[in-house]
Amino acid sequence: MLERRVEDFINMEKVIEEFEAVTKDAGRVQIETLRRILEDNSEAEYLQSLGLNGRTDPQSFKNCVPLVTHKDLEPYINRMIDGDLSSILTSNPITTMSLSSGTTQGKPKEFPITSGKALSFIYSSKQFKTKGGLAAGTATTNLFRDSRYIQEMQALKSQCCSPEEVIFGPDFHQSLYCHLLSGLIFCDEVQLVSSTFAHSIVHAFRTFEQLWEDLVADIRDGVLTDRVTVPSLRNAMSKILKPDPDLANIIKTKIMGLSNWYGLIPELFPNAKYVYGIMTGSMEPYLKKLRHYAGDLPLLTSDYGSSEGWIATNVNPTLPPESALYTVLPQIGYFEFIPQNNVDSSFIGVDPEPVGLTQVKIGEEYEIVITTPAGLYRYRLGDVVKIMGFYNSTPQLKFVRRSNLLLTINIDKNTEKDLQLAVEEASKLLAEEKLEVVDYTSYVDVSQDPGHYVIIWEISGESSEEVLGECCNCLDKSFVDAGYTSSRKVNGIGALELRVVRRGTFQKILEHYIGLGSAVSQFKTPRCVGSNNAKVLQILNENVVNKYISSAFNN
Ligand code: AMP
Repeated sequence: MLERRVEDFINMEKVIEEFEAVTKDAGRVQIETLRRILEDNSEAEYLQSLGLNGRTDPQSFKNCVPLVTHKDLEPYINRMIDGDLSSILTSNPITTMSLSSGTTQGKPKEFPITSGKALSFIYSSKQFKTKGGLAAGTATTNLFRDSRYIQEMQALKSQCCSPEEVIFGPDFHQSLYCHLLSGLIFCDEVQLVSSTFAHSIVHAFRTFEQLWEDLVADIRDGVLTDRVTVPSLRNAMSKILKPDPDLANIIKTKIMGLSNWYGLIPELFPNAKYVYGIMTGSMEPYLKKLRHYAGDLPLLTSDYGSSEGWIATNVNPTLPPESALYTVLPQIGYFEFIPQNNVDSSFIGVDPEPVGLTQVKIGEEYEIVITTPAGLYRYRLGDVVKIMGFYNSTPQLKFVRRSNLLLTINIDKNTEKDLQLAVEEASKLLAEEKLEVVDYTSYVDVSQDPGHYVIIWEISGESSEEVLGECCNCLDKSFVDAGYTSSRKVNGIGALELRVVRRGTFQKILEHYIGLGSAVSQFKTPRCVGSNNAKVLQILNENVVNKYISSAFNN
């Protein structure tokens, strides 16, 4: 029955056929997609001001339309937010606004189809109307509230074990508790555990470690803990929560049998087949913990997209996340690629020269530029990808990093990837002590001369001063960028500092961002805190328990 309803809604064969067709002819599809976007938006003031005069070919587009970043578009977007209903970026006024960017089409995301239930840690932040009457919310919020998505969810209704009210609950902690409880209630039916970004899954099971006794008590007594106070959640949960002392005992026995929570997910959900979510890029640091919870279950990384527009799909999800390849969907937008070996020219004010989708070279790294039907033209997304091959004629890429430099004082350049590698290297020393880095961030301290890097770690337990001192030296040595090492040797950059913060500090940062309207489903820990981010710096500073200064470059 369910199979039929799902089939009615998504015709898989047709989707695959279309995918094959567009990828075989990616170059032509790109030209058509650009033409469609420009024709549909020919009335837009932005495009008209650039003198395209109805031309829609890639060369005229490139000649007339400049590369832009979010900052360049802000004046236009602000007018839309303030209620200007004229054709600004698109011909037709935009009705939904994605908070982290300009506009979004909120493409419904396909769930992998199985006939069991999914435990999905998804949350919707509040959607609100701007002064001008636009519905604004984070991309996933707009998605979860999109009528097509709701329709799809309904088609797959018996898929999600949590009641809908839990996704739309106003309090993230209470929703998370109810997601976990719903998962336990339907533990034998859960076939997959998922979230948008892997961080939410790791966060959920870390929370489970803390709260499992309350969850088990709720199942035993059939009474929801009083930590859940929101009436809609209490009401929805009361419909599925019944006293079940046997289940409570089984869960408790399983938990007691675990060693350091290894394999928690398959133990709780014996019929789960896989764990699903975005696991690449800034999610990689959570993979180790996720593997620990997932035991022998495969980790499937989902697609590659952003609030600004969907980009690429993972057609071979069984590859481990480290080798995941994303296949660009040429019909979804018009894509250009800025070669990274050219990027320095942007510092001297020359626009780097992007290439088209089918002109990229295997092995090269590029920053992605997108043009979307929703009114972004030659928009620099800020992501760097590496071309690994082609699927038919469309490129397959690996997500490498965000394009902005993370840590830089003078001639040094370190990206989020460099930081990730340094943290991975240094945390091996902690692993010998059976400890792990729960989360991390960094900033550049230039309050004293010379400036230096500050790396902040939250760790899972107490480590000796000696080991942490070694970790600090190891971090300093692991930044192999020549600008960094040469500056360190002549003290143009001061000794790296490692600060250890109290348990729960990164949870406070998450809460701070939720308070600002971020959806937990989209949360990514900032890997570098700018000096203007006073609140996050304050949270970090208030929670420092220890500081270490590197002696790695002392002679
Ligand atoms: P948001 O701005 O919240 O919509 O997040 C979009 C950003 O998340 C993208 O620009 C990427 O930096 C990152 N992202 C999305 N999908 C992936 C993926 N599959 N792998 C790595 N990073 C991703």
